[in-house]
Amino acid sequence: MSVRPHPRLATLAAPAPGGLEGPLVDRYGRVHDDLRISVTDRCNLRCVYCIPEDVTFLPRAELLSFEEIARLGRVARALGVTSVRLTGGEPLMRRNLVRLVAQLAEIGFSDLSLTTNATLLAPLAAPLAEAGLTRVNVSCDSLRPERFAAIRRRGDLATVLAAMDAAEAAGLTPLKVNVVVLRGENDDEVLDFARFARATGRVVRFIEFMPLDAGGHWERPRLVPGAEIASTIAAHFPLVPLEGSGAAPAERFAFADGLGEVGFISSVTQPFCGTCNRLRLTADGAIRNCLFSDDELSVRDVMRAGGSDEMLADVLRAAVGAKHPGHAINEPGFLAPRRSMSMIGG
Ligand code: SAM
Repeated sequence: MSVRPHPRLATLAAPAPGGLEGPLVDRYGRVHDDLRISVTDRCNLRCVYCIPEDVTFLPRAELLSFEEIARLGRVARALGVTSVRLTGGEPLMRRNLVRLVAQLAEIGFSDLSLTTNATLLAPLAAPLAEAGLTRVNVSCDSLRPERFAAIRRRGDLATVLAAMDAAEAAGLTPLKVNVVVLRGENDDEVLDFARFARATGRVVRFIEFMPLDAGGHWERPRLVPGAEIASTIAAHFPLVPLEGSGAAPAERFAFADGLGEVGFISSVTQPFCGTCNRLRLTADGAIRNCLFSDDELSVRDVMRAGGSDEMLADVLRAAVGAKHPGHAINEPGFLAPRRSMSMIGG
């Protein structure tokens, strides 16, 4: 049996095995009921803040099979995970994803969502909904075709906007639109996105640029703080805070006249680690307890060595038990993680 602990995790005392019972509570009392599953590291776009042009992808054999993902999903459900979000890479690049959605839906999560660049979504929206997907988050960083192409380096805006319509027609709602705001690149579109949220009813979420780009080009001045975006919007369209939904990363605001909603994911300037409820499964089967921590434990190795579900549960418990109180981006000596966003699964 080769469970491959990260050196730092290996130094921690092994948790007492607890069978297939939850919940997954860490040393700081945070209950982990949300699992982000990356189904592939492949992506058909090359967003400047995420993935380089000359990326090398994992060999197919290193990826978890659908059966392995579903098995981990069942163990996670038994331990109290209620919400699953599929991501990547671009999750729709994984062939037959609808089959995996059906397998996960059978397990009975209360929320089974997908984050996608939507370039391949339109024809798949209805089959995904029928298989049990509940909603989608679509990434879209500009409402101007040339700029969209410049930031994402591939794909086109019209396809993504059409896919949003298709997703809504299939019932994959509420539809959230993720916008990474970069200083000097798309920060002049904040009000356009606010108008878009008001006109469409889609929840636009402004995300701070995080030090997770594969190129290592992250610099604080390129980041636009969520609070700055909120005050730009509020000066034109008054906002009223909405009740947070506990551990959700976005700070949510409704437009005061009732026309729609925006959110701010201010991971760098206003970290929300204190309420973090998330675990991540990478496409190659590593459990990560934080986007910004290199600590990983392989469930793939456990499964492929014939390990039991109880052993998988122990891996999840060990990952949760080793979680740090915060991501430390704002502390001296912070080092960006070795794997970038598309490799981990955002
Ligand atoms: N390919 C899918 C997509 O585009 O939504 C899913 C994976 S993508 C890595 C998930 C989310 O991470 C997207 O909303 C993307 O904009 C965001 N993202 C990627 N790199 C980021 C970074 N360095 N800082 C902030 N957000 C980032």
